Formats: sequence, structure tokens, C-alpha cells
Amino acid sequence: MSLLRGFQRLKSVLCVQVNPGVRRVSAASAPVQRKDSLVKMENPYKKAKKGCVLCNIPVDFKNTQLLSQFVSPYTGRIYGRHITGLCGRKQKEVSKAIKKAHSMGFMSVTHKHPQFMKDPKICVVRRLY
Ligand SMILES: [Zn+2]
Repeated sequence: MSLLRGFQRLKSVLCVQVNPGVRRVSAASAPVQRKDSLVKMENPYKKAKKGCVLCNIPVDFKNTQLLSQFVSPYTGRIYGRHITGLCGRKQKEVSKAIKKAHSMGFMSVTHKHPQFMKDPKICVVRRLY
């Protein structure tokens, strides 16, 4: 009798030790939401996106609406990189395209076309006053 009790005690101890490590997976059981359950989330160590707003966008000198985003509305001058926020390659491409559009007569040299004045701003122009 004492041997049987001893065995039952041992069995209960064994069951307690074995069960927490083993998880049952069955399709029939409903998903149980617990406080400490795993939560799906985005990778926090994912690298930040590389590139500027114009990377992977072709710049054409005939697309004056796009090019006029990078031109001052008052003087018609091309904004610098610190204002446009473009990468070096695209800044050069844009300034070349603007100059080509000027020489071809697609864009005005002295001002931004009034049709494009209300376009959303890409460049961040900080005022000095
Ligand atoms: Zn870029």
C-alpha cells in the first residue's frame, strides 16, 4: 500500500515536471488569449528605408509639374539639397532637367508657373525671421 502511494506521489511529481515543457497543438481547440501570450509585431530591428522621395522615380525634363516643386516660387531658382532633401544623384538629375526645361522653353526661369502654386510641398523651406 505504501509502495502504491509512493508511486502515485512520484507520478504526480513527474507529471508536473513534464507537462509545462510540452505544449499541445491541436486544430480543434479554440485559441485561448492569455495575458502572457506572444503578440505578433513588426521587426523592431528592421533597417530604415534608404533613399529620398525621388529614388526609383524617373526624372524627365518635360514633367514641369514635378520639376517646379524644386524651384522657388518667387525667384525661380533651384532649391539646394539642404531644402529639397534629395540624394546627390537625384539632385543633380533634377537640376539638370530643370536647366534643360528652361532652355527648351517648358519652364519659366524667373518664377514658378501659377498653375503649380497650390501643389503639395515636397521641400521644407525654413524662414529666417
Ligand atoms: Zn534618392
